[in-house]
Amino acid sequence: MKNDYSPHSAIIKDIIVEAHDTNTYVLEFTDKKFQKDFSWCPGQFMMLSLFGIGESAISISKVGDNGSLYSTIRNVGNVTNSIFNLKKGDFIGIRGPYGLGWPVDKLRDKDVLIVAGGMGIAPFRGLINYIKDSRKNFRRLEILYGARTPEDMIFRYDFKDWRKIKNSNLDLTVDEISIGSRSSCKIGLVTSCFPSMKIHHRNAVALICGPEIMMRYAAKCLETIGFKDEQIYLSLERRMKCGIGKCGHCQVGLKYACKDGPVFNYAEIKQFIHPL
Ligand SMILES: Cc1cc2nc3c(=O)[nH]c(=O)nc-3n(C[C@H](O)[C@H](O)[C@H](O)COP(=O)(O)OP(=O)(O)OC[C@H]3O[C@@H](n4cnc5c(N)ncnc54)[C@H](O)[C@@H]3O)c2cc1C
Repeated sequence: MKNDYSPHSAIIKDIIVEAHDTNTYVLEFTDKKFQKDFSWCPGQFMMLSLFGIGESAISISKVGDNGSLYSTIRNVGNVTNSIFNLKKGDFIGIRGPYGLGWPVDKLRDKDVLIVAGGMGIAPFRGLINYIKDSRKNFRRLEILYGARTPEDMIFRYDFKDWRKIKNSNLDLTVDEISIGSRSSCKIGLVTSCFPSMKIHHRNAVALICGPEIMMRYAAKCLETIGFKDEQIYLSLERRMKCGIGKCGHCQVGLKYACKDGPVFNYAEIKQFIHPL
């Protein structure tokens, strides 16, 4: 009988250093058939595991042409620290993909606003590349990405390509810039970019991912400029255990973030997220 908790084995093919505490791991499944048949949606996540250590929910930041999986991981604790001790050629366990990704169908023929804070840009990378590759299906794209410092920003090597996307804008904001830095980031919260956006809120959808307090604040600011709750989607970062809607650790009201999310419509979960 198939065991839903059995991980697939994958080898670390490459490690890309993104920031002092964040790496991207390029992973290839040892089961080549599984890798060939692997399908995913931007915004979905995987459970990455190390035998005897534990499991962590990690967004899929990209799937390469050969089916290799890109997982961008911030070293914050037990599991992620152990992953940081691995080298190219080491093995890792992977279950998934899990969850419902970004509502791509609801973005068709709309202006798309992406608001990301810190690691919150990871689940957007696949979506941005998807929009880039099927540009005519979407209207204006605004990407607002905030981090602590310019050095904490990840996927910096993608910014040049994202800036080339027709009818789009990428705005970067940070909390602080060190003296002498030549960074072009603005200082302030991502929400400080809202007034200069060139999108029409009546025909727009806003997608937000980042620390919960930032998402709440961003959603509130969007409401004040005319967005309706139904036009806003958030990707919730809840502590996940099973990833398949059985254990209840990631419960949000009557729903589970792993199975019914992690992307939720704001109207649906407004009452369950961190109050301002
Ligand atoms: C759907 C989803 C997608 C995610 N995508 C990514 C990703 O792409 N990259 C990435 O680096 N991280 C991502 N995370 C967060 C990641 O799952 C946690 O950082 C990781 O599980 C921490 O495990 P750990 O054993 O290293 O830390 P622990 O030792 O368990 O904890 C260390 C510290 O981190 C806090 N923490 C742990 N997990 C979470 C969590 N889920 N939410 C908030 N605080 C937490 C703990 O409270 C503690 O303070 C995602 C989480 C979810 C739910």
